[in-house]
Amino acid sequence: VDIWRNITVRELANACDKSLDDVQEVMLYVKGADDIEPSARLEDVKIIREIVQKCGLKSKIVAAPEKEEIEIKDRDVVPRPPASPENLRPRPPVVTVMGHVDHGKTTLLDSLRGADVAAGEAGGITQHIGAFTVQLSNGESVTFLDTPGHAAFSAMRARGANITDIVVLVVAAEDGVMAQTREVIKLAQETNVPIIVALNKIDKPEADIENSKRELLQMGLNLEEYGGDVQVIPISALKGTNLDLLAESVSTQATLMGLQSEYVGPVEGVVVESQTHSKRGKLSTAIVTRGTLRKGSILVSGLAHAKVRALFDHNGQPVEEATPGTPVEILGWRELPMAGDLILEVESDRKASSVLRYRQAESQKMKAEENIEHIKAKEEEHLEKYLAAREARRLAGKFKMRNKGPRQKEISSDDGSPRVNVIIKGDVHGSVEAILDVLETYDRNDKCKLDVVHYGVGDITEGDIELAKTFNAIIYAFSVNVPMKGTKTVSIRPCNIIYRLIDDLKEEISSKLQPVE
Ligand code: GDP
Repeated sequence: VDIWRNITVRELANACDKSLDDVQEVMLYVKGADDIEPSARLEDVKIIREIVQKCGLKSKIVAAPEKEEIEIKDRDVVPRPPASPENLRPRPPVVTVMGHVDHGKTTLLDSLRGADVAAGEAGGITQHIGAFTVQLSNGESVTFLDTPGHAAFSAMRARGANITDIVVLVVAAEDGVMAQTREVIKLAQETNVPIIVALNKIDKPEADIENSKRELLQMGLNLEEYGGDVQVIPISALKGTNLDLLAESVSTQATLMGLQSEYVGPVEGVVVESQTHSKRGKLSTAIVTRGTLRKGSILVSGLAHAKVRALFDHNGQPVEEATPGTPVEILGWRELPMAGDLILEVESDRKASSVLRYRQAESQKMKAEENIEHIKAKEEEHLEKYLAAREARRLAGKFKMRNKGPRQKEISSDDGSPRVNVIIKGDVHGSVEAILDVLETYDRNDKCKLDVVHYGVGDITEGDIELAKTFNAIIYAFSVNVPMKGTKTVSIRPCNIIYRLIDDLKEEISSKLQPVE
């Protein structure tokens, strides 16, 4: 066997397909207690070889791996660098409607969407595809994400693909600022997304516009009428009052922000919603952020890819193309992409496959890393036990002091020194070590010879029992499992508190000593 140099204890355990405990136990035999922590690196090939052999294995380690230099033919595709200013053109803003529960987000979205459908030629069938565009009388348009609340915003944000340009914060004028209102304000401020307040339900007699504004001011929103830049539009989502005003103020805000995109070059976009339709198959709604999407485009998104077969607008009408800032329904996915994932256009099917291969390999690596995380978590558990054992050792230390009194002098024994043989098995290295530490002092001080014939980490094995028979030893099982077999022939004493173990041992020793006259 060729051996890895510089392998860590943990890696060695993994490579040998053994538990960390097993390997550490073997290491105790082979090289003593030094450097058996999971992260300790082993350099001495002889020692590594011995550990591997003692682990009783056909080790999985066959050859020292060459430095990982697998040639990567498959590469990822990433967004293009920013476009130069002369290639940019204005685009519609993308708006997320947020606010406290029951303040009217859904109603507002329904009204906005309905108004547009009614105005359009589509025949009034509203359908939900995750986003829609509202046409203003001045010819401009505003795109609304059709999923109210935090979920959409957070999902996008979590994936690093936050496409929200503006937040419309719905505040019911009867309630004013509430818990989730505050959250939205905080979130928007953190992410630097401007807020427009839609002060809703003004049709209700309880509506208190002035009070709501005061509360918003107190939240640190610089309202326009007080010289700030946050617009407040009083609306009734239910009655449709001032919805056009709201859309206009969004558009004004967008103009102020100078939102622009490149309309040419490979398409970039973000998945807003994704579903498998019983008749139409795999569909996703996306918002194009760059370039112009057309039929025949080849797209990758996460681990999914598509050859675009058809495009539909938010009214379900087939369209030839989709430009930045507009939502579009895409037909032609082989796999279903996930909401919030980036969409990127590639030049060929072949490139798409290569990108997916690369991404799949990466995601597998990630999974492997998660596995390691899991192992690490296990080790932390280990460490906790270790610390508990250390604490026990500290306590046992106190115990030691207490028992160093004159009483011990009274105990005497014959020259022939009786012996007590013990085997110590503990759940973690630390506990075994702690017990050994305490026992050491006994061995020195007492007239009765205490011999630790074997110790280790892990459950009681048949080997331990054989050993106990041979040496007529007591096995102390510190927080480890005791087997059913063989327990009658030897004395196995389970315990999980160190001083109890010591007490028991003391008694054992006393019983071996000749009675003092
Ligand atoms: P969401 O939880 O923020 O999505 O709130 P909804 O849109 O579901 O609205 C909650 C309740 O408030 C519903 O019963 C709506 O009919 C009502 N509502 C929403 N907007 C208005 C409004 O402008 N005026 C009145 N009177 N009721 C409204």
